[in-house]
Amino acid sequence: MSASASEGGSYDYDLVVVGGGSGGLSCARQAAKLGAKVAILDFVKPSPQGTAWGLGGTCVNVGCIPKKLMHTAALLKGAADDAKAYGWSVPDGLEHSWDTLVDAVGSHIGSLNWGYRTALRDEGIDYKNELGSIVDAHTVKGVSRKKVETLYSAKYIVIAVGGRPYVPEDVPGALEHAITSDDIFWRFDPPGKTLCVGASYVALEIAGFLTGLGYDTTVAVRSILLRGFDQGMAEKVGKYMEHEGTTFKRPVVVDSIAKDEASGKLKVVLKSRTDGTTEEEEYDTVLFATGRKADTANLGLENVGIVPDAKTGKIAVDEAEATCVDSIFALGDVIDQLELTPVAIAAGRLLASRLFDGKTTLMNYTNIPTAVFTPLEYGAVGLSEEDAAAEYGIDNIEVFHTYPQVLEHTVPHREENQVYAKLIVRKADDVVIGVHYAGPNAGEVIQGLGIAVMAGATKAMFDATVGIHPTIAEEFTSMEITRASGKSALRTGC
Ligand code: FAD
Ligand code: NDP
Repeated sequence: MSASASEGGSYDYDLVVVGGGSGGLSCARQAAKLGAKVAILDFVKPSPQGTAWGLGGTCVNVGCIPKKLMHTAALLKGAADDAKAYGWSVPDGLEHSWDTLVDAVGSHIGSLNWGYRTALRDEGIDYKNELGSIVDAHTVKGVSRKKVETLYSAKYIVIAVGGRPYVPEDVPGALEHAITSDDIFWRFDPPGKTLCVGASYVALEIAGFLTGLGYDTTVAVRSILLRGFDQGMAEKVGKYMEHEGTTFKRPVVVDSIAKDEASGKLKVVLKSRTDGTTEEEEYDTVLFATGRKADTANLGLENVGIVPDAKTGKIAVDEAEATCVDSIFALGDVIDQLELTPVAIAAGRLLASRLFDGKTTLMNYTNIPTAVFTPLEYGAVGLSEEDAAAEYGIDNIEVFHTYPQVLEHTVPHREENQVYAKLIVRKADDVVIGVHYAGPNAGEVIQGLGIAVMAGATKAMFDATVGIHPTIAEEFTSMEITRASGKSALRTGC
């Protein structure tokens, strides 16, 4: 082992990062920029169905990127329908080619994988396509595809191994026959009639784009939609999906899945959680989106006394992403924080700046804006109505709401009162503590409002801001109807 050049110590590297996803890459690249000698190990274990991918982690390969592109593909059908009303000649019975979409999305991801590899090389970071594990407080073992083992010593180690989909082991046939979000974006066979199990971000986003692309899609909901989100908004998202053709079964759980070998179809038994009755139906594809587990099994954590959570696999860290071992840090989906790419990226950058640039800024995990890319997109920042009421008391918050008119929807005569916006205000100081919007371009709309909430903007400041006309977002500057007034926020008339 050679000494780390920049630190003059007795380690190979100043920093070894295990996991080359959103968090690991950002931490490694920021550290290298600050002059640290860095290595990053990234290795993709194929899914149980055999799907594997390249450098960049979940977001790039089996998350945000393919999901948003497929969501866009589905929205384009609606745009093509609208285009007729705007005077375009669009043939009836538009056909969609699943394999063309998968091919195009895969090509883009391939270019991103390549971009990361070349960026790491250009930035002087040693990229190892090896499965890492912790040997001791300053040593990581890498195992290559050919099973060659190498030890790397480092002053600091960052664990950024993310998570993988969790499929309940107690459902007969699930592990054997079901796919997950790790498979759907890379599978060239059209999914056909699909059952999505789960009712949070992943299940609803995937069910949304599959319906939009023309596949008969059902969502098996165990309890509520989008746990943790404002439930009024979540129900609007679900209602719109139903309107667009997604079937919802709720509250149900999957009792069993069996394959009919002759037809290749999957026979699924769903059990009602209300009365225990069962129903059987055939599907071409069953996709479990029942949450994710941190990928910490076999990571050698026991060698350094780090004990991951038994249920979630997550690693406990303090506010500086430090584990119980001084030289080892963890960030991104592997810790118990919001599982979002920008969160992992920001935490990675800040950690590197603290380790190698004497900075002290900690990651702020509050007021993180997020968007769910369902057919009716939903963006939110701050508290849900339920959480605001629980924290401050129902009498101490004011809820302003409106069904904005979407000018673009008027010409094609799309149904009104589907797009919805809500501001939650703390009465004591007029501060906006929650912003919710279900409608087109929710991520784009909420990003800017996230800055306002971070800055502690008051409702009076929202009202004093001049709107941009004609947009939906301008409605956030002029919301007058409160829920308490009992007045209808519905848009009426022509
Ligand atoms: P990851 O990106 O998962 O990276 C971990 C890397 O470590 C992986 O490459 C893994 O193969 C590798 N690894 C694991 N173990 C080892 C080991 N022992 N040795 C070496 N390498 C190892 N977030 C958003 O903000 N917006 C979205 O729209 C969004 N959409 C999503 C859609 C889906 C379907 C999913 C599943 C997630 C989505 N997310 C989204 C969440 C986002 O992808 C994650 O929060 C983010 O990727 C977490 O980054 P990370 O660095 O912690 O882990
Ligand atoms: P979540 O943990 O958010 O949700 C899991 C869902 O599965 C819940 O609806 C849960 O129901 C249900 N569930 C759990 N176990 C079972 C079971 N045994 N049978 C039936 N249903 C079950 O997981 P996701 O995979 O949807 O998302 C993981 C994370 O990835 C998100 O929290 C998010 O941070 C990130 N992500 C972000 C996206 C974005 O930014 N747009 C998109 C996709 C993912 P119940 O409520 O009853 O517990």
